[in-house]
Amino acid sequence: VGDTMLLQVTGLEKSFGALKAVDGCTFGVPEGSITALIGPNGSGKTTVFNLISGLMTPDAGEIVLDGERIEGLAPWGRAHRGIGRTFQMTRLFREMTVLENVVAPLRDFQFRQLGLGAVSGSEAEKAEEFLEFVGMQAYRDARAGSLSYGQQKLVELAQILVLDPKLIMLDEPAGGINPTLIERMGGLIRELNDQGKTFLLVEHNMPFVLGLCNPVRVLARGQVIAEGSPAEIQKDPLVLDAYLGD
Ligand code: ADP
Repeated sequence: VGDTMLLQVTGLEKSFGALKAVDGCTFGVPEGSITALIGPNGSGKTTVFNLISGLMTPDAGEIVLDGERIEGLAPWGRAHRGIGRTFQMTRLFREMTVLENVVAPLRDFQFRQLGLGAVSGSEAEKAEEFLEFVGMQAYRDARAGSLSYGQQKLVELAQILVLDPKLIMLDEPAGGINPTLIERMGGLIRELNDQGKTFLLVEHNMPFVLGLCNPVRVLARGQVIAEGSPAEIQKDPLVLDAYLGD
């Protein structure tokens, strides 16, 4: 991990009515890193994720991916420039099969209106490669809605991998899943990172974050109040204050 930032957000702001949920948020995600974004409940982490992935438009600030401003682009434009993201509550198409879900991002973004149609051989091959990677190939024909929450998270990871993202944003990858799956999720993230993928994670499981992520960015009241290695963050009085005040 070097000094080059794959993603840089600067002076990001977002208000909901009178509430400034994101209030001048500035941080970078180094190329090749597994970066964590942590902070107490309500500190603005999800909103920052939404602003980066394009679900929300910032009131002010810049988002630069790989040297290019992206804050004006629609979510699909950002996906095609290399941002893949998962959601805290998974967003698979519950009535579609696991395979169809993983093929879906390869299709036109209107596929929901158009209907998916038959999956071609080359699409299936690509989807299966990633299902195998996350250990879910045995479930390819199962209805996504029939899977456990943890299994859905693995399928969601396969789903974003088919577009070969440069930056993988995971919203609580270890949240609400059993210890075996947490272990597997951590292993997959590490393996992808070894292959060159950069990660930005929001995660509440501190042992998971501290064992996997470096650097860590700490958010409180919509601003980054501390940054550094896990060791540096853990002894920062501002961080302790932010969590005690939660
Ligand atoms: P975190 O993910 O760190 O828990 P959020 O980004 O979800 O924080 O929320 C930051 C603040 O913005 C909270 O006070 C939350 O209630 C508020 N907020 C988030 N989304 C909305 C929204 N769509 N409308 C109104 N308020 C929101």
